[in-house]
Amino acid sequence: MEKIYVSTRDQNRKMTSKQAILEGISKDGGLYVWPDIDSVQIDLHTICEQSYKENTYTILQPLLPDFSEEELKTCIENAYGHSFSSPDITPVKKVDDVYVLELFHGPTSAFKDVALTLLPQLMSASLKAGDQKAMILTATSGDTGKAALEGFKDVDRIGICVFYPHQKVSQIQYRQMATQQGKNVKVYAIEGNFDDAQSKVKSLFLDEDLRKKAEAQNVILTSANSINIGRLVPQIVYYFESYKYLVNHGAIQLGDPVSFSVPTGNFGDVLAGYYAYMMGLPVKKFYVASNANHVLTDFLTTGVYDRNRAFVQTISPSMDILISSNLERLLYYMSGKDTKLVSQCMSDLSKTGRYQIPDTLLQKIQFLFGCAYLDDKKTKETIATVYQESKVVLDPHSAIAYQVAKDAKERPIVALATASPYKFSQDVLDALHQNSTNELEAMKQLQTICSDPIPKGLKALESQEIRHKEVISVEQMKDVVEKNMEALL
Ligand SMILES: *Cc1c(COP(=O)(O)O)cnc(C)c1O
Repeated sequence: MEKIYVSTRDQNRKMTSKQAILEGISKDGGLYVWPDIDSVQIDLHTICEQSYKENTYTILQPLLPDFSEEELKTCIENAYGHSFSSPDITPVKKVDDVYVLELFHGPTSAFKDVALTLLPQLMSASLKAGDQKAMILTATSGDTGKAALEGFKDVDRIGICVFYPHQKVSQIQYRQMATQQGKNVKVYAIEGNFDDAQSKVKSLFLDEDLRKKAEAQNVILTSANSINIGRLVPQIVYYFESYKYLVNHGAIQLGDPVSFSVPTGNFGDVLAGYYAYMMGLPVKKFYVASNANHVLTDFLTTGVYDRNRAFVQTISPSMDILISSNLERLLYYMSGKDTKLVSQCMSDLSKTGRYQIPDTLLQKIQFLFGCAYLDDKKTKETIATVYQESKVVLDPHSAIAYQVAKDAKERPIVALATASPYKFSQDVLDALHQNSTNELEAMKQLQTICSDPIPKGLKALESQEIRHKEVISVEQMKDVVEKNMEALL
């Protein structure tokens, strides 16, 4: 099979798509990329005539060439056949003059579902016949954890450990993870923040001792974070889907460019948009929308990436991130596949917490990528204004993307809505100047003003028992992984 994927830090580390999905991260610390992704040009006519599932096949087939047609189609059917509450999977709503792409109609009410319903299927199909097993390690700022747990729950030959920052996720996110059922799942609260958890998970993948122990048991350690190419590529589809909507509703002519505003943390979602662009989607501008942890706004403005700053806990916790892993993939492509430059930047980042890119590279990036950020106060104001003017309730993450889209000059523009407002009920009510006693009560209160009903999975939380209570230190993460690996056998 053709090894089309290489590491962002070494073009001689080659993998097939299945190998890349199983490994998650390259052994040299780099991320897997397909250098010639722009050799695929998706036909927009076809996209505008096909269903979501058909478009998923059309877009993913060239990116995952070692999957057979039947394999890939089965994966897609299992992922999107019945677990989304909207028949369109990712419907579009026009709010004032912004098109809002709703990505939260999956089982856990966050956009992560779009990819994490499909990734377990792809991973299962990638395991070698026989008794090879996989152990998923996932660091989460809140939403990935639940979506991954739900996607991987009771999948044969795969186990999953999720690590989230203790008391730094919302009440609902906490309950979603702590009540998770399934015989192959483990959930741990970590004393630290998301970056601590993510850095440790990354280092565990590179830990020789742990790797040897895993190999001896025929277990592959891998990731469900957006560093995994199998997690990233399903997200390309909804960019094309929103384009299909605009064409089919007469908002644009086929071929016209559109712009996007994307609420960003780890840079996975907006990078998928860039992949869509490289595959032929006409895009004028991507706006990278951030919260008070605006390391990306600063980077895109100055060319200096600097994580040496105070970490701010905000009402958009899924974007509370100072190390945006997937930016590495953008640097790879934008620098003309300069693995040396990427390696240098990433080495600087891990040694000093900072790197700087050359001016020419910055200008090239700025040509396509705009940026802006909103602090909590402005985020709440946006939630209130949009509700007053349009009777639409946005969650804090979506509100940030919406306001950044509003402030942008390009039209048409699509703002990505990444979570259901019910996931962040108390903060949303607070923004609307309504008091509430706790998250579960707030959810019911929100229902009186929200046009969508409370999603099934969130409604059930109240009555489900807490099953996962362990709080561990970052140092203990390796031990629990070893323990769970043995339990998998
Ligand atoms: C994960 C997440 C984001 C950020 O997406 P990235 O791919 O990490 O940039 C934004 N909003 C919500 C609700 C999320 O769960």
